Amino acid sequence: MKYKIALVGNPNSGKTTLFNCLTGSNLYVGNWPGVTVEKKEGDLRGTSSDMTLVDLPGIYSLAPYSMDEIVSRNFLLDERPDLIINIIDASNIERNLYLSTQLMELNCPMIGALNMMDVVKKTGVEIDVREMEKIFGYPFIEISAQKETGIDELIKLVEKTVDIKRLKEFPQIFPPEIMALFNEFDGLIQNKYPELLPDYPRLFRVIKLIEKDEEVLLKIAKNVELLADIDMVRKKIEVLSKHDVDSAIADYRYRFITDGISMATKKTKDQSIPFQERLDRVLMNRYAALPIFFFFMFVIYYVSITLVGEITIGGIEWFINDVLMVTVAAGLGSLGAADWIIALINDGIITGVGAVLTFVPQLVVLFIFISILEDSGYMARVAFIMDRIFRHFGLSGKSFIPMVVGLGCSVPGVMATRTLENERERKLTAVLTPFISCGAKMPIYVLMASVFFVEYQTLLVFSLYLVSLTVVFASGFVLSKTWFKGADSGYLLEIPPLRLPKLKNTATQVWQRTKEFIVRAGTIIFAASVVLWFLQSFTPGLQMAQTPDESILAVFGKIIAPIFIPLGFGNWVASVALLTGIAAKEMIISTMSVLLSGQEGSFTDAVSLIFTPVSAYSFVIFVLLASPCMAAIATMKKELGNWRDFLFALAYQIGLAYTIALIVYQVGSRIFS
Ligand code: GDP
Ligand code: MG
Repeated sequence: MKYKIALVGNPNSGKTTLFNCLTGSNLYVGNWPGVTVEKKEGDLRGTSSDMTLVDLPGIYSLAPYSMDEIVSRNFLLDERPDLIINIIDASNIERNLYLSTQLMELNCPMIGALNMMDVVKKTGVEIDVREMEKIFGYPFIEISAQKETGIDELIKLVEKTVDIKRLKEFPQIFPPEIMALFNEFDGLIQNKYPELLPDYPRLFRVIKLIEKDEEVLLKIAKNVELLADIDMVRKKIEVLSKHDVDSAIADYRYRFITDGISMATKKTKDQSIPFQERLDRVLMNRYAALPIFFFFMFVIYYVSITLVGEITIGGIEWFINDVLMVTVAAGLGSLGAADWIIALINDGIITGVGAVLTFVPQLVVLFIFISILEDSGYMARVAFIMDRIFRHFGLSGKSFIPMVVGLGCSVPGVMATRTLENERERKLTAVLTPFISCGAKMPIYVLMASVFFVEYQTLLVFSLYLVSLTVVFASGFVLSKTWFKGADSGYLLEIPPLRLPKLKNTATQVWQRTKEFIVRAGTIIFAASVVLWFLQSFTPGLQMAQTPDESILAVFGKIIAPIFIPLGFGNWVASVALLTGIAAKEMIISTMSVLLSGQEGSFTDAVSLIFTPVSAYSFVIFVLLASPCMAAIATMKKELGNWRDFLFALAYQIGLAYTIALIVYQVGSRIFS
């Protein structure tokens, strides 16, 4: 008979290197059925029996979130290998053992191959493999796949272990009272649902049911009684552990690992702490981490938005207004083009697309910084720190980054959601990021504050950020249970090493993101600008509008203005400004100033006539929360992928903005009347 041996481990733990050491010629390389994940099989060399070694995709857990996890998990469950070689990057032993604690539930014989021992030895750490075996319940062996040490011993150990058929014993990962609950539940399943998931090893089945694992849920979705039974156990675990079930189970696993490791390892040499680790202690310090992060972000915004903006915007605007438009007008004029064509090209296309392209230098610099922060491993650390908080609101720690980036501009913010692997969390983050006020909305707040809230300017802006945070978290909480329902990603466990970013990576990433932005400006934004220009320049009778209030846009603004009466700003100037604000939020103020230019007195006087303090506040709330500018809307469509989610997102953003502004005005005007 041929033995089947699975090589399982985290990505980058050295699986492929070890696989090549362990196998000889007889190699089979193909794909796993139905997916493009590579499958590699080979015969184990140097053994008297016939053994096939299968290299499984690298995974961090047995939760079914990524294709790699699903492939590995299905192989382990369906094909029941005779032995698992669990390869562990010993220089990262605690994190790697997290997967091991899950593999142990499969009740399959296992060997822990502690890889990278060459690195570990240099740091002066000694691992007692006998002690490890006592604690974890299966044998360990020290190897270095790269230096090819310990390989022959590993093969001998494989021959010795392959026939034992099951894990020697399951150690006490969970406290006795939790284990008792598991056993009780296992008993219940066997009595009440004897047909349930018969291929699953018992402990694995119990834990996956209790965790409400995504794959398992799919299989039992209709079994209401079982779901109720599961909720009962979950309640009991929550009461016992005083945590939610997922964090409780993860915590027990981690505590077991840290306790075990502290017993089985010791530092021999008194090594000085490596620089990386010292840096990490500061960057991830409980108290310093967030201030440091905000300091970085402040510097990044200052440099990319303010400094680069000051240097480039003037020049670009000069080029667009005084060079490009003048040349176009003169050139087309001399060719005898009609006025409206020149106006279309200059005021429609060049102004519209130009307004967006003006930000390209700032975005490029912002992209460079973000890419460096991502590549260096720093973003992963910030995400790790925020994970616990964000998890309560249906988001992941990785949602934090798009939102912080969104403080500057929603476009790179929404693009940054790509680092989230979990689809549900990624989409949810893309929908929520525009609720974070971008920099372009600030002038509107400042205008309203200076007209109506002179003494409370800071308070006004602060209150808006508070509103935006509340909306993000409340929406996350609600939407993650409704529209964007589904499993959470696992806890963020992996913190990649800190390293200097590679110039090539950064350059490629920045180029790709910039290109995408420019392409979008050239297509969607181009089209929208033409439409907007047309609506602004023509009367409903298709004559050129002589004054701004004759245009189709103004007429349309007058028609929709009543919609905003309950919100306090049912005047057509505000409505038209909101419409042009779809092009870019900066346009809200400039539109109002154009439309109000006929009035006597200063612009701020005119503004004070069409708003009251309460309706001004309701207006800024609406601007803050309603859908972002068209560049961000287009980005959101791209990241959400399908129309269904996209239209829902728009409806949600506009609907929520309307509702909250309505409440603000209705309540506010009764209090302050
Ligand atoms: P996989 O992702 O698990 O397949 O990991 P790979 O086999 O591709 O190895 C990841 C990296 O770790 C490669 O650069 C290897 O050269 C390196 N590596 C693998 N084993 C060892 C080892 O024992 N010692 C050291 N120093 N490096 C190793
Ligand atoms: Mg590999």
